[in-house]
Amino acid sequence: MDPLALNADLHCHSDVSDGTLTPEGVAARAHANGVQLWSLTDHDETGGQHRARRAALELGMPFLSGVEISVTFAGKTVHIVGLGFDIDDAALRYGLAATRGGRSDRAREMGQSLEAAGIAGAYEGALKYASNPDLVSRTHFARFLVESGVCASTPEVFRHYLAEGKPGFVPHRWATLSDAVRWIRGAGGMAVIAHPGRYNFSPVEEFAFFTEFKQLGGEGVEVVTGSHRPDEYPKYAGLAREFGFYASRGSDFHSPDESHTDLGTLAPLPGGLIPVWELLAERVHTP
Ligand code: AMP
Ligand code: MN
Ligand code: MN
Ligand code: MN
Repeated sequence: MDPLALNADLHCHSDVSDGTLTPEGVAARAHANGVQLWSLTDHDETGGQHRARRAALELGMPFLSGVEISVTFAGKTVHIVGLGFDIDDAALRYGLAATRGGRSDRAREMGQSLEAAGIAGAYEGALKYASNPDLVSRTHFARFLVESGVCASTPEVFRHYLAEGKPGFVPHRWATLSDAVRWIRGAGGMAVIAHPGRYNFSPVEEFAFFTEFKQLGGEGVEVVTGSHRPDEYPKYAGLAREFGFYASRGSDFHSPDESHTDLGTLAPLPGGLIPVWELLAERVHTP
């Protein structure tokens, strides 16, 4: 079989971070949708990895370990996905714990800013949605603001309240690019740029980001993702070839109610790319 035709979904979230399904629930949905290689990539947290692997293998679905690390680069937040690392690597766990550390204070400050903008109780409201109290995300605030009728949908909450420059946005310093790549590689995994089309970088900034990522040992980029428009696939396929990056594919699924791209329903990777799963074949857990 052509490796590019594999229905791999290597980017999605469970309630261990800001998804709404359990790791077992995401595994079941991925399997039902025909996913042939699956990775759960919760934000800054590997606490769901053993459960995800067990569930996947019970369903007969090959599994790669995964995580999505929040990084501050050139004053912006970017996301780096790690794939195929050792789940129990101590340095990676320690680094991720440090990255998560600032989330509680940030969430309290977000609550205060929203209060100043006339929305009371948002911190407590967001906490109700966070199954993992160490991982309060803007997504949990968004769910509360939709539930309480302030906005009609989570994208609307982000536009009006949670994006940079909006009343509920609190700047935060995440991990450095260098740390994120080092933790992933140190644990035997591959570092992959998540949804590069989302960052609104100028072409010069984007080139600098890709160049520095490669110099640090980064090896992959998401080309086909639920966070890209289809017209962005050829652009990032071109950059993957130019930089010699392996290409990845993932829905970025968070919830049956919110996500516009369901697990396992993406277009295949464009031709002429080497998929990340070619290099990671030995890191795949098989039933
Ligand atoms: P945080 O890590 O707390 O800053 O939250 C970031 C999360 O918010 C992302 O992982 C997405 O799940 C979600 N998000 C970011 N921007 C948007 C948007 N425009 N619409 C919906 N969800 C978004
Ligand atoms: Mn998210
Ligand atoms: Mn992301
Ligand atoms: Mn994601």
